[in-house]
Amino acid sequence: MTWYDPRMLKWFKKRTVREAKGVSGSAPHIIGRDHHNISRKNISRNALKVLYKLNEAGYASYLVGGGVRDLLLERRPKDFDIATDATPEQVKHLFRNSRLIGRRFRLAHVFFGRDIIEVATFRGPNVDNAKTSDQGMILRDNDYGTLEEDAWRRDFSINALYYNIDDFSVVDYTGGVPDVKAKNLRIIGEPEKRFREDPVRMLRAVRFAAKLDFRIEKRCEKSIDKLGGLLEDISSARLFDESTKLFLSGHGVESFYELRHYDLFYTLYPEIDELLDEHPKLEKFIEVAMRNSDRRIANNQPVTPAFLIAVLLWPEVKQRADGHNAKDGAYLQALQQEGDHVLHHQQQRTAAPRRFTAQAREIWVVQQRLIMRRQPYKIFEHPRFRAAYDFLLLRAESGETELQELADWWTRFQEVEGEERKSMVNSLGGGGQKKRRRKKRKPKTNDGQAAVADA
Ligand code: ATP
Ligand code: MG
Repeated sequence: MTWYDPRMLKWFKKRTVREAKGVSGSAPHIIGRDHHNISRKNISRNALKVLYKLNEAGYASYLVGGGVRDLLLERRPKDFDIATDATPEQVKHLFRNSRLIGRRFRLAHVFFGRDIIEVATFRGPNVDNAKTSDQGMILRDNDYGTLEEDAWRRDFSINALYYNIDDFSVVDYTGGVPDVKAKNLRIIGEPEKRFREDPVRMLRAVRFAAKLDFRIEKRCEKSIDKLGGLLEDISSARLFDESTKLFLSGHGVESFYELRHYDLFYTLYPEIDELLDEHPKLEKFIEVAMRNSDRRIANNQPVTPAFLIAVLLWPEVKQRADGHNAKDGAYLQALQQEGDHVLHHQQQRTAAPRRFTAQAREIWVVQQRLIMRRQPYKIFEHPRFRAAYDFLLLRAESGETELQELADWWTRFQEVEGEERKSMVNSLGGGGQKKRRRKKRKPKTNDGQAAVADA
């Protein structure tokens, strides 16, 4: 049987029914090396090193999660996660270059310079009620288990596939392989229970649907409609992490529209969500900016969460600053004030590290300086010049056409040098240079000498 054989689909359908009835303990489907397309060539050297070392030490050693899923889809995995029956302490002992992390999930990080390979011990089912909140949320999850138990407690069937380094087969307990083939995003087990255990799985569902262009199963969709509000109980630091993954993994546009579609965007950015509902035209700016970030990621250019924050919060910051009816310098002050206000509120939902919020604020302020064009040379040297200029271009492109001429001026300013640049600045008239004022003359004494200050 090949991995996409229709007979296999039937087999898994039966399995899912059995699983729903709570029957477990049946054999997995094992897809031999000749019947799948995963090649060691496409697995990172460091991940292979870890896989082999665990295996040679006598432990079970599998590649799991996004790595296996993406390789089956012939995509380049973002990272490689490894699952084993060795405890975190045993992993730590085996790899000198490793560290144990996490409280909710204790796992080992193996370091190879900047590359980190995550090694997790098989998890068992949660049996202890004391580790679950009143809402059914799992608070701690450190009960170790078997490979099979580990598979059933993963989030989606497509994320519960294991590549066995011992014989290069793929092990499938949950029907992930046919789901990969059918582009079907299916949560393992009963959706409501699984989303209650960890509401972030709803955001993950949207992220994978957007990234892989998969369809979220109907019964999952229904539960998301019902349970979206549970995300309010998730820590703001974790929501920031998820938000970054949603918007800075190369599929920001799709993620944005999918989140809006499932009405989950409000759980991350409540004020912006309301504003976009009132003024749907404002979506355009976010779309243009996200598309630009997606393109940069595709071209291996850097993207920063600071720019993302600046983009997502901008419609609200602008609306509030516009409410001041101020111009030039006074508008700049309004931007600073409203920027602080919006950032402060947003921190309670998605808590970004301070350096990112500080940079987002600078992007807003500096692009207002670009608009005013006072002291162009000084603005040009500002560390946020480039980001603010990009931001201005995106505003012009997304409908603020009156900014286009100004954006073109700054484009040219960067292209030319020396005398040409000087003449650009001079042609701005008084506006281009800091206004120089004559200093007040010191009062003269009778004999024509300047008076000494306190003589
Ligand atoms: P990618 O790394 O491409 O974003 P991924 O599927 O590898 O996607 P990770 O966050 O790296 O996602 O997690 C690795 C694996 O751990 C997942 O594939 C899944 O099996 C499991 N997992 C992660 N988060 C959860 C969760 N909240 N609930 C259950 N299983 C999870
Ligand atoms: Mg991963």
